[in-house]
Amino acid sequence: MDLHCCSPVLRRGLAIACSLAIFGPFPGAGQEAIPAAEGPHHGIAVASIDPAVKPGDDFYRYANGDWIARTEIPADRASVGVFAILADHSNKNVATIIEEAAKSNAPGGSNARKIADLYNAYMDEGAIEARGLKPLEPHLAAIAAIRDQHDLAIALGKTLRADVDMLNNAVFSTPNLFGLWVAPGFSDSDHYMPYLLQGGLQMPSRDYYLDQSQHMKDVRVQYFTHVTTLFRLAGLEDADVRASRVISLEHDLAATHVSLADIEDIAKANNLWKRADFAAKAPGLDWEGYFDGAGLSQQRQFMVWTPTALRGEAALVASTPLDTWKDWLRLHLIEAYASVLPPALAKEQFSFFGTVMSGIQQQRPRWQMGVNLVNADLGDAVGEIYAQKYFSPEAKAQAQAMVANLIAAYHKRLDQLSWLAPSTRAEAQAKLDTLYVGIGYPESWKDYSTYEVRPDDAFGNAWRASLWEYQREVARIGKAVDRHEWSMEPQTVNAVNLPLQNALNFPAAILQPPFFDPQAPAAVNYGAIGAVIGHEISHTFDAEGSAFDSKGRVRNWWTREDHAHFEQQAEKLERQYDAYEPFPGVHVNGKQTIDENIADLGGVAAAYDGYRASLNGAEAPAQEGFTGDQQFFIAFGQNWASKTREAALRRQVLTDGHSPGEYRADIVRNSDAWYAAFGVKPGEKLYLAPDDRVRIW
Ligand SMILES: [Zn+2]
Repeated sequence: MDLHCCSPVLRRGLAIACSLAIFGPFPGAGQEAIPAAEGPHHGIAVASIDPAVKPGDDFYRYANGDWIARTEIPADRASVGVFAILADHSNKNVATIIEEAAKSNAPGGSNARKIADLYNAYMDEGAIEARGLKPLEPHLAAIAAIRDQHDLAIALGKTLRADVDMLNNAVFSTPNLFGLWVAPGFSDSDHYMPYLLQGGLQMPSRDYYLDQSQHMKDVRVQYFTHVTTLFRLAGLEDADVRASRVISLEHDLAATHVSLADIEDIAKANNLWKRADFAAKAPGLDWEGYFDGAGLSQQRQFMVWTPTALRGEAALVASTPLDTWKDWLRLHLIEAYASVLPPALAKEQFSFFGTVMSGIQQQRPRWQMGVNLVNADLGDAVGEIYAQKYFSPEAKAQAQAMVANLIAAYHKRLDQLSWLAPSTRAEAQAKLDTLYVGIGYPESWKDYSTYEVRPDDAFGNAWRASLWEYQREVARIGKAVDRHEWSMEPQTVNAVNLPLQNALNFPAAILQPPFFDPQAPAAVNYGAIGAVIGHEISHTFDAEGSAFDSKGRVRNWWTREDHAHFEQQAEKLERQYDAYEPFPGVHVNGKQTIDENIADLGGVAAAYDGYRASLNGAEAPAQEGFTGDQQFFIAFGQNWASKTREAALRRQVLTDGHSPGEYRADIVRNSDAWYAAFGVKPGEKLYLAPDDRVRIW
């Protein structure tokens, strides 16, 4: 699972909210200095601290209060924070790479030429406007030609894309009927398998269609207006009639969906279906036609992640009128490509998915969206240059040394944990021994030679990119797994645990201040990036990690007693998070966020050990009046400095496996060392009696 909500890099074909690079918790405008080491100063950001707040009452506001007070969310963003500000730095670097690619006059077919052409075609709004709706015509004609259930099944199959990822990047929704993920098999982790996930909704999750709160009812009213407008702009008559039947179909699809907590439950996802099983277990859809359309007619077996939803959705294909499905296909086509169609469509899409759904007032400058587009469709081509240009071998070596210390810290903690059975301990140690930790950039790069980019065809470039990525993934099915393969680009500010590969990726873009500064004190680096590395390592043996052994196979290696102890501690932490209330009546969902909260808990604990070990018994030097331990915890709290608009935060609470940043910072209340560092006393708001502090790893 990744470290941070809604990966800031655009990935083609994700749930619409992420796929268009204009929504979601996006790179901040960077008007504020990064709240930590920058320029000649190396250490915690003292200027971000609010000394009027007692650390024991509200640690997040103590560490970040002054930064919060002076920081505004830019009009074109849903949020601003450390991740966003760093992502802005990364985007500026990528913009430089694009500029240089354009100037280099590189030969046709080269990566540099593709980068320049992809960007320039997107930036030429005049040409996009002049083409109007023409690029849609052949696709709309194909939809109009659908005559029966067989044609419909083929058309639905043709929309299948490799656009979900249930374990690495936590992408749980797709607007297409189903989503495909190609990953190592649950039982045969040496070969890639196809996994199928529920889908079909434009809005981010079932709750947007089913929840009866006034807020969600209001969103649905505006969604109707949006869909109607989009149909009208695409030149379709009876736009409101079409809108209401498409939304009604999406509502029915949503009702078949399982919850996010269920999707995250590996045991429920382990369903191997042979081809014949589809017709028997999920009647209604002409599966032969569907797999033909998807180019998967040769594939004999699939992993079905959400079997009840597949059954429900397949039944709706048969029971819903053909004309409604045709309108559903039209809407989903237009939404998927609005960003490369005339500006009126892109603007309408932004006004709903940007403003209504995320509270963003203003669309981002086009060049920034162009950068995101290039990152999405030529991510490795950019990443290869980025890694050479912006990540030094020295930084890589130092980060690798920290990783080694963190792993040593976990080995020690595992040795000392009394609740683990000896067999469990042995497998946990084996997982640590075989863990692949990628630092900075991958060992090999995607080959884009078969992806055709034209300098004057923004729509076609986007269409071919999505198809190219899909075909690349499909071609991998059945092939041998490369455990060193990355699942994030170097220019992405995030980190990820890949449980089926027993691997971690830390991209170059997160390995910079304030997370990582080769010249900062050890206390600060361990509190900031150390806790991030510790977070990812802990996923290796948490509830998710316990389902995968040291070879990445799905095999639960915990004993019943281990589980019982773990569950009991996890429940304590769930209750701690259930109590947080970002809006009156809206609580953090302790169950939905439990894996990530446990990872934060373990991450801080191991990072603290790694930091103490790095001192070799000496006391850390104080800096600007803060002890080493205080610097460690403040650096951790400053990782999570962020401000988010209400609509976006509400959405995060509903749809994200990560808690909002504020509560992630407060995980420190479970650490004895934090109480000692700040003299936290009973009666202060975050105070927990020693027995109530949760200890897992
Ligand atoms: Zn995580």
